[in-house]
Amino acid sequence: MLASHIFLSHAQQRLMRTGVPVLAYHYCGDAPSTSPDPYLYASVKNLAGKIQALRESGYTSVSLSALAAACRENRSLSNKVVISIDDGAENFFEAGMRILSENGFHAIQFVVAGQIGGINEWDAKHGHPVVPLMDAGQIREWLAEGHEIGSHSMTHRNLSKLNEPDARRQIVDSKKHLEDQFGVAMRHFSYPHGKSTSMTEALVEEAGYETACTTCFGVNGAGQNLMALHRIWPLSTSEFLGKIGHRVGRILRLN
Ligand SMILES: [Zn+2]
Repeated sequence: MLASHIFLSHAQQRLMRTGVPVLAYHYCGDAPSTSPDPYLYASVKNLAGKIQALRESGYTSVSLSALAAACRENRSLSNKVVISIDDGAENFFEAGMRILSENGFHAIQFVVAGQIGGINEWDAKHGHPVVPLMDAGQIREWLAEGHEIGSHSMTHRNLSKLNEPDARRQIVDSKKHLEDQFGVAMRHFSYPHGKSTSMTEALVEEAGYETACTTCFGVNGAGQNLMALHRIWPLSTSEFLGKIGHRVGRILRLN
């Protein structure tokens, strides 16, 4: 069941036994037909099936802080998974939170500090479908359910393309903004657009974050660079092939 619903192959299941997977979600709901990347969306049924399959396979969720401690102390964690969600979408709050709690899972939403109660304007301005983001009341409700939030920068700029002072502002200001507004420590960061550089990793560490997530594929174990955690897109084999096909089709149409 786990192979067909969660991971691409038995090889990936073997990989999971070598470290902790951090799953990377974005939006919960049916993808609009105009979305350039429908695989950013997990339908309610799809998400429910995958979280349930994880639970039935003996997995429980763990926090990024617990993962970081295990990496630092050279301890292995078995049957643990981190559920992470980028962007702080209202649709994941509305539909995803119920699915998580029904299965006893907790998650971390990486919110864009300058867009609380706003929209995904970094994509919408390029013609992508508008996605409303959680407002402050919804974020407080999310926290009250035992979930966490982390920073996804101030305005979702690609930090690897910014100069050092601008990248530092995105990293430092979002931490302070979120801590002041919600009264919880911001220990975790997720790089907008998924890529880190040695400069941005140093800035995130200097700002006092404990971990930072990329979208580089893999699991996380002893010796892992905590400022560049690996993540896994939770796609089944057919979804993975569909994503590749969709991307190739777009490239061909654009050329
Ligand atoms: Zn994002």
